[in-house]
This record gives sequence, structure tokens and C-alpha cells, in this order.
Amino acid sequence: MEKLFNDYGINLTQKQLILFEKYYNLLIEYNSKFNLTAITEKKEVYVKHFLDSCLVTDKICGQTLIDIGSGGGFPAIPIKIINENLSVTMVEATGKKCEFLKEVINNLNLDNVRVINGRAEELAKDKNFRENFDVCTARAVARLNSLCEYCIPFVRVGGQFISLKAKAEEEIKEASNAIKVLGGKVKEIVNYSLIDAERTLIIIDKINKTDNKFPRGHGKERKNPL
Ligand code: SAH
Repeated sequence: MEKLFNDYGINLTQKQLILFEKYYNLLIEYNSKFNLTAITEKKEVYVKHFLDSCLVTDKICGQTLIDIGSGGGFPAIPIKIINENLSVTMVEATGKKCEFLKEVINNLNLDNVRVINGRAEELAKDKNFRENFDVCTARAVARLNSLCEYCIPFVRVGGQFISLKAKAEEEIKEASNAIKVLGGKVKEIVNYSLIDAERTLIIIDKINKTDNKFPRGHGKERKNPL
């Protein structure tokens, strides 16, 4: 597995390799109970979950990160393993998944990581969270236009929202109004291939404060995207 990361320019320490190993074992142990991942074969989990999550790390600037809809911990936990000094907040709507995430934090002995069991659109109204983070990440949570309304409110002006997607040209076009209205501006679109899968990072700068009326809540983010 070490070589796999090396091939993508990531050199893991022995400690980090052990943490990934422990994380893999926990995922498999809890998967049947908590429905965390559709893939379980070791190499596949390392590529499609661990490596995929890690490839964001060199795009992260700042000290505080919030990950929306963390599920089984992607991309937040791998980012934290690579970037020990980052303060990480995971937001997850499903209670059972939060239980699992807490189990991971305890077993891997991760400092400065917390789990919030709640919905992004509600938490974003809380002044302790709104515009309080250097970076927000999200993978596989919603289409980009809806996702921007969940995520951009958490980012401080000058920070970034990074969305991890497969091929995303259409979605990026479709989200252009949402990005602008919420105070964002596309900074960079990074396309790369992960073994045989096409992946895209959409990096959005927060250039203006988000109007307090967003997120609108009551499911409007998905039913009637900006
Ligand atoms: N990011 C993980 C999980 C993706 S599944 C991965 O890439 O593997 C999407 C997760 O987002 C689910 O666990 C779901 O409960 C959570 N979710 C969806 N909408 C949410 C919202 N508005 N607020 C918080 N969590 C949400």
C-alpha cells in the first residue's frame, strides 16, 4: 500500500501507515452494522477512499477544516492522518455514522477532531460555525449547486470550499449562479485520474460574506437549487 501512495507523490510515515491499517480494520468491522461503504476489498478501499481523500491535502491552506456529510469519514479522516496539525470538524446527519466516527477518533488517538451529529443547513445558522473555517470539504453528498448552499456558509472570507467529484463539467456550469450568490468564485478545477477513475477537485474561493438568508433550509437546497 505504501507504493500506491508513493505513486501519487505521498510518502507516508510508519505511523501513518499503521493508522490507515487500523482505520481499514474498523471500517470492515463496523460496515455490516452501520452501512459505511459499498466497497470492502482492501486495495479498492485504499484507492477509492483513502488515496482519493488524500489527494486533496496539498490544496488545503489554513488550520481549520469542516467536512460536510462525512459518512464513514471521507475525506476528513485521511486528511487528518496526513495533516496532523489540522483542526477537523465532521458534520454528519446520521447518528449511527457519528458513533462510528467517534470510534475511529478514539481508536486512532486523533487530537483536535470532533464529530457533530446534525444537518449542515441548521448548523450553518450557528455563529460558532458560520464563516468560521479556513476550508470546507465534501464528497458524494449532493449535486454541486445544492452542495454550495450547504458548504460555502461555513467558510470564512478568504477561505475555500473544495468539492471532490467524478467528472463534473455539467455540474460546474449548473452551479455557477449558486457559487456567485453565496459569495464564492471558482479558483481552480483540478482533473486527475485515480487508477482508472476520472476525478475532479473544484476549488472555490470565498470572496464575499454569505447573505444570512442562506442556507434556506426545509430541503430547498435540493428541491429548488439556486
Ligand atoms: N463523504 C462520505 C459519505 C458520502 S454519503 C464519502 O464520500 O464516502 C453522504 C453522507 O452525507 C451521508 O452519510 C448523509 O447522512 C450525509 N448528509 C447528507 N446531507 C446532509 C446534510 N444536509 N447535513 C449533514 N449530513 C448530510
